Amino acid sequence: MAELIDGKAIAAELRGQISTDVEELMAIGVTPGLAVVLVGEDPASRVYVSMKEKACAATGIYSVEHKLSAEVGEAELLELIAELNGDEKIDGILVQLPLPGHIDEAKVLEAISPSKDVDGFHPCNVGRLVTGNPVFQPCTPSGVMKMLEYIGVELKGKDVVIVGRSNIVGKPLALMCLAEHATVTICHSRTVDLPQKVAAADVVIAAVGRPEMIKGDWIKKGAIVIDVGVNRVGEKKLVGDVDFIAASKNAAAITPVPGGVGPMTITMLLYNTLVSAKRRAAKKG
Ligand code: NDP
Repeated sequence: MAELIDGKAIAAELRGQISTDVEELMAIGVTPGLAVVLVGEDPASRVYVSMKEKACAATGIYSVEHKLSAEVGEAELLELIAELNGDEKIDGILVQLPLPGHIDEAKVLEAISPSKDVDGFHPCNVGRLVTGNPVFQPCTPSGVMKMLEYIGVELKGKDVVIVGRSNIVGKPLALMCLAEHATVTICHSRTVDLPQKVAAADVVIAAVGRPEMIKGDWIKKGAIVIDVGVNRVGEKKLVGDVDFIAASKNAAAITPVPGGVGPMTITMLLYNTLVSAKRRAAKKG
């Protein structure tokens, strides 16, 4: 049976380290600050925002929420971002996605100062990731990388198969694995013979959004399996993109859903906010 990769436990340990670093910064007069912008009443977004705020409070990071109506104009939202860009108490700005259809999401993300872009979605930060000189890396993929590092998986020379090519998960993850000298295959909805691609992987990372579509018998014996997917099945049950029970029979180690990648994502947001505050502290001298 596979070893369970306990994202909750890894996240808790990292958050402990973050709290300690926050205390040290506060002792020199710098409190890390995160501004969260929520537009509209989407229930899932509301839940994510409240989880982020609670995580900030638990680690000593100051957070402030800007709640705007779903009808807010793009200009007003851009004005708020400009204000936050200039606010010296704020080290990180997070605009909760998705935004209502009348707002140009790309324009809003580009308005965030790259030096406060703790989600790592600004084209400038994406470009820096591509060229191997990252400043802020997107939270879910960097959480996956931290997990792999934590359990001692060295990616150099390994065959990594990533299923999913979104801008927020699959593509940045591929770049991060490349930077660690893995040989990376990115699969997507037009990939031919996905089972065969997955079967060749030393490390499989699933970020698709389809319940249990990666079957257990596709997994090579001894592979590492990271399941980013979160899918609601029925009223209450959450499952990943991988058939967890069947895959556990072949994998050397596997993440559960829930309790795997999820807790790492918010942890990396706290981490990025801390890093940004440390840069502010260094400038202050
Ligand atoms: P997207 O919908 O943006 O991307 C899904 C990707 O899966 C696309 O590249 C798509 O291919 C590919 N895909 C869809 N169907 C298939 C198929 N049959 N075979 C192979 N590939 C397929 O999703 P996200 O990247 O935003 O999220 C992926 C999952 O991760 C979701 O379940 C989401 O909830 C979860 N998630 C979890 C987070 C966490 O913190 N745990 C954070 C972010 C996401 P194509 O490009 O060709 O359409």
